Amino acid sequence: MKVVRFHAPGDVRFEDAPEPEAGPGEVKIRVRNCSTCGTDVKISKFGHHHIHPPRVMGHEIAGEIVEVGDGVEGWAPGDRVQVIAAIPCGECAECRRGRMTICPNQVSMGYHFEGGFAQYMVVPREVLKVDGLNRIPDGVSFAEASVAEPLACALNAQNLARVGDGDDVVVIGSGPIGCLHVRLARARGAARVFLVELSRQRLEMAAELVKPDAAICAGETDPVEEILKLTDGRGADVIITAAASGKAQEQAIQMAARQGRISFFGGLPKDDPTITCDSNLVHYRELMIVGANGSSPAHNAEALELVASGAVPVADLITHRLPLESAIDAFGIVARGEAIKVTIEP
Ligand SMILES: [Zn+2]
Ligand SMILES: [Zn+2]
Repeated sequence: MKVVRFHAPGDVRFEDAPEPEAGPGEVKIRVRNCSTCGTDVKISKFGHHHIHPPRVMGHEIAGEIVEVGDGVEGWAPGDRVQVIAAIPCGECAECRRGRMTICPNQVSMGYHFEGGFAQYMVVPREVLKVDGLNRIPDGVSFAEASVAEPLACALNAQNLARVGDGDDVVVIGSGPIGCLHVRLARARGAARVFLVELSRQRLEMAAELVKPDAAICAGETDPVEEILKLTDGRGADVIITAAASGKAQEQAIQMAARQGRISFFGGLPKDDPTITCDSNLVHYRELMIVGANGSSPAHNAEALELVASGAVPVADLITHRLPLESAIDAFGIVARGEAIKVTIEP
């Protein structure tokens, strides 16, 4: 079968690999869609300390079961499934408390296990053990189902930042994750959602799709001033930074309303992880700053339901569909910001 495999930083190959078989406790799928995201670009350029090459990449996975290993119950060939990306252990102190996104023993598809940029893939028993294989609801396509994983990550962040009724929400960064955050915030009852982005071109492409109440180009105007103007000086109830930018995080703190919640959704570069935070703003305004690290199996299941019910449409966010041999080109499209969501159809 054909796969897209990481060999070394800057060395990702479209090549042949033996077709895997489902061992005991495992399920084999025919991958129908595996979507790309910024993480794939990062891995292809820099590698990752959890990836021991060669490794099939890809973690936003949807497909069809073709083989069920010994001892697996409840699944059959032909079932349409979505696979979680981050796999918690299900047993540690955090997992037992239901905090599966911060499991210290977390392993991941496309990192520790062969990923979805392949015609076939084995779903490891670690995924099945924590209920990480989800049935795709009727009416949801494989392509849409592959976007459930990033949507699940957005859902985790908005739960932690308590996005809800009547909130003025700012999303900084208009990539696929930013677009999902705008849609999800609306579904959760936000009063207004403002989108902030450095690049005018990327901002316009996203704004046309997700129609924020205001689209602010941070490359042309000061987003803090703009948000204060739009909120009569009050600031925003929730700010989500969906960009790997320390400056965006600093601006997020400055544009928060009293008791505002700030989600540092996007991480910062490892060699530059420090920001300046006016601690007195946090103190006097009772701000809450929260992180967000991936998603749990339950978030993935809920994300599929949000897509199925129409609460969070994702079909129109998939702007590019490419065959497996074009996956490496797809990373370039993602890196240059020319697309919202690029999905690979192996
Ligand atoms: Zn991803
Ligand atoms: Zn755990």
